[in-house]
Amino acid sequence: MNRRGFFKNMANKSAEKSTQSIEKKVNRRAANWIRPPYALDEAEFLMACTRCDRCVEACPHQVIFKLSDRLGKAVSGTPALDLLKKGCHQCKDWPCVNACNDLALVLPKPVPDIDQSEIEPELPMMARAEINSKVCLPYNGRECDVCVDSCPVPSALTWDMTLPIINLLLCTGCGMCREVCVADPKAVNIRSLHNSLGY
Ligand code: SF4
Ligand code: SF4
Repeated sequence: MNRRGFFKNMANKSAEKSTQSIEKKVNRRAANWIRPPYALDEAEFLMACTRCDRCVEACPHQVIFKLSDRLGKAVSGTPALDLLKKGCHQCKDWPCVNACNDLALVLPKPVPDIDQSEIEPELPMMARAEINSKVCLPYNGRECDVCVDSCPVPSALTWDMTLPIINLLLCTGCGMCREVCVADPKAVNIRSLHNSLGY
């Protein structure tokens, strides 16, 4: 490699390193909120989202809110899900995603079935839901089955005899079970997927 090639190579490597470190930082911060369904990865999302509020307005359940200015210029006004208070209904026609003209929320292409009829796109993974057994009533000898019918995802919330169990492979983190939970404090914790990705 000649001198010019050597420096070019070094410059590319250092640019790649700094991009990776910025991306890590962005993802670490993203552990503090949960983006709407089918959001791009955080760094790409921040570049695509124009903070137009269309997804906020399109949500019929008022689950999407805007991040506050206190969180800094880079994210202020961008949309996030209020899953600690309400569940995302995973609306059949995804109004929030369809309202996004800037392609920050993007439906995956539906997969054609064997008979060539199209099937629904895969459900989005939005967050991680976990049952807090210290607070959940059946785990503490008290009767409760309030969340039993709340889960819209087949087999994501099942019952082992009298205890609710969440299957993390199927659960989308929609928060519907947390919304209906009658324990105080709520026995379903919802956290950002970025918390569990080891950034
Ligand atoms: S899927 Fe429905 S409930 Fe969930 S954020 Fe989008 S519009 Fe709101
Ligand atoms: S277990 Fe709870 S958070 Fe997970 S998909 Fe079902 S209702 Fe949604």
